[in-house]
Amino acid sequence: MMERVPVSTPSPRPLLAGLDPEQAAAVRAPRGPVCVLAGAGTGKTRTITHRIAHLVSAGHVRADQVLAVTFTARAAGELRGRLRTLGLGEANAVQARTFHAAALRQLRYFWPQVVGEVPWRLIDSKFPIVSQAAHRAGLSTVTESVRDLAGEIEWAKASLIAPEDYPAAAARQRRDTPYEPSRVAEVYIGYEALKSSAEGMLLDFDDLLLHTAAALEEYPAVAEEFRGRYRCFVVDEYQDVTPLQQRVLDAWLGGRDDLTVVGDANQTIYSFTGASPAYLLDFSRRFPEATVVRLERDYRSTPQVVSLANRVIGAARGRIAGTRLQLIGQRAEGPEPVFAEFDDEPAEALAVTKSIARLLGSGVPAAEIAVLYRINAQSEAYEQALTEAGIAYQVRGGEGFFQRPEVRQAVQALRQTANRDDLPDARGADLVTLVRAALARLGLTSEEPTGAQARERWSSLVALVQLTEELVEQDSDLELPALLRELATRAEARHPPTVQGVTLASLHAAKGLEWDAVFLVGLADGTLPIAHVLGEGGTVTDESALEEERRLLYVGVTRAREHLRLSWALSRSAGGRKSRRRSRFLNELVPENSPASRIAQPADRRAPTRKHPTCRICGRPLLGTTSTMLGRCSRCPADLDVGLLTALQDWRKEKADELSVPHFVVFSDTTLTAIAEQRPGDDRALVSIPGIGAKKLRQFGADVLALVHSRERAQAHKSAGEK
Ligand code: ATP
Ligand code: MG
Repeated sequence: MMERVPVSTPSPRPLLAGLDPEQAAAVRAPRGPVCVLAGAGTGKTRTITHRIAHLVSAGHVRADQVLAVTFTARAAGELRGRLRTLGLGEANAVQARTFHAAALRQLRYFWPQVVGEVPWRLIDSKFPIVSQAAHRAGLSTVTESVRDLAGEIEWAKASLIAPEDYPAAAARQRRDTPYEPSRVAEVYIGYEALKSSAEGMLLDFDDLLLHTAAALEEYPAVAEEFRGRYRCFVVDEYQDVTPLQQRVLDAWLGGRDDLTVVGDANQTIYSFTGASPAYLLDFSRRFPEATVVRLERDYRSTPQVVSLANRVIGAARGRIAGTRLQLIGQRAEGPEPVFAEFDDEPAEALAVTKSIARLLGSGVPAAEIAVLYRINAQSEAYEQALTEAGIAYQVRGGEGFFQRPEVRQAVQALRQTANRDDLPDARGADLVTLVRAALARLGLTSEEPTGAQARERWSSLVALVQLTEELVEQDSDLELPALLRELATRAEARHPPTVQGVTLASLHAAKGLEWDAVFLVGLADGTLPIAHVLGEGGTVTDESALEEERRLLYVGVTRAREHLRLSWALSRSAGGRKSRRRSRFLNELVPENSPASRIAQPADRRAPTRKHPTCRICGRPLLGTTSTMLGRCSRCPADLDVGLLTALQDWRKEKADELSVPHFVVFSDTTLTAIAEQRPGDDRALVSIPGIGAKKLRQFGADVLALVHSRERAQAHKSAGEK
């Protein structure tokens, strides 16, 4: 007689369909330790969800005895969603949670048995208490310092390091500490004391995990009840586990071995938070009888992208690298990745923007395009260029440049300077000096500071000074009030779009995500790898930190499904000294016949670089995005048809109202000015204006050309009449 399967339980057969042989082997492995070592896009999440469903449907375990954990709420949601489609939702639900959410639930339940009456409260931010502890220790309480201190405390707790051991551990791990390690330890001690001296007990997220582990370790009744309830454990992204989370996992297991883990050591990019791939790499040593499965087929990216990914990680060194697997692309062929070198960052941003416009024109949705960079301050040039081109975007995992607290404070400080009665008459180079002086009070030092948050803040301030320099290049008479007006206009034009746009994100924030087209930008040595892992003259001081930087590039490359462009610039600002080189990670990768390889020679032997755009009036090289878009320098007289510009502005207003979008989404001011100056006669002339791609041409080309033509006819008519 056929076995009757409960309605809500998935049947085993379809669970194995749609899996390759290695995935199926991991799914079918008997209960007990299983380790899946899987590269990016190889189907590891798919494999573990199918494994859970298989164990449940085969009757090896009940759905409610399974606990699946991962690290972010988004990933846990993804896991639950996929389990639901496999029939493991609602009545037959498997618990899929983050470590923290699972611990919170358990602690709520066990607290009365363990601690009794003492009330406790979970704090959602360490910030106020760390700030208080910093104040008591006589340290600064400015936001970035406190955040860096909180980051160190978090790292120490995640790494199971007590305050008294912090200085030695920080030295061993070459932590980038905001203060002398002994001062950080003092704040750590103060922070813990403040939390427990409060009324009741205050627990932070790390305490949740610590108390859960301790309850299971020290209270046999708690352990017995828990272990009777959960029998099977699954961990996704296991390379991200911290010693503290591992301790919780061990407490859950209590000597049992029913554990499936999935991870990719070569995607370890969070070591600075305490995450360690050592547990993944040591899994089969700890469980010698474990089933170990390696997945190599990449279902996400084209063979061209996969090949580059293999070469990036192929050059890695050290223990983690020893575990890498060659990915084998399963998708149809696609375009080769493109490498491009530029003279300066504005030129790079403009070229990337033009490529994005072309992709949009060819039908790639904006939501399927991403620009990824190493540090958040790099977003500024791209926000500006995309705004000028009228392309909507959103900054992921952080605010846009002008929304950042340090940039708002800086603009505010400049406003106060402008309001001073004794405002010096500063223009041009003097204006740059004035701005530097105003920002010096907000932390703009000549040396890059230590501490990740402090460095982010500093980089934003540097970007603001560079923006000032660029504007001064364009107008040597620029004064502070005009600078402030320009900054306000730029901030205003960059309000978050109402439609979904192109994604701007740091490489860290891009982890686990994927897009059809990915632009990896700013790949200069000193940015990726980031300067502080390098010593004097670019020598490597910290080999393991350098390897983590390489893995960041690997994570970046593997986000692309189809189109991938890698670029860098030789100087930061337009016309600046070309003192940079492309990332050392790219040296072996740029193909021989690539334009980037021809121009990326050492400075003295460099072939003539790609021609810089020149002014169509005076012929001098153009500096800065706006002048490049206009095709002339700001000092050259504009051969602007004011009547045409007015007509274009009226038309744009109507169009924007009709489409319910802000007017710059139709065309930016710069693009309209360029049209009114260049008076394009046909489609070709029109698309040669930056900011106008195939899509805009389709949408608005006919309207714009009609306006230009009717204006020319009117002019011809007028001059004929005058003769
Ligand atoms: P990441 O490294 O980003 O976490 P992953 O290894 O978890 O990726 P999945 O997200 O599970 O990979 O799978 C990547 C994509 O490949 C998904 O769209 C998935 O449906 C698809 N995929 C996985 N395995 C197969 C398969 N055997 N046949 C077809 N498609 C597959
Ligand atoms: Mg996954």
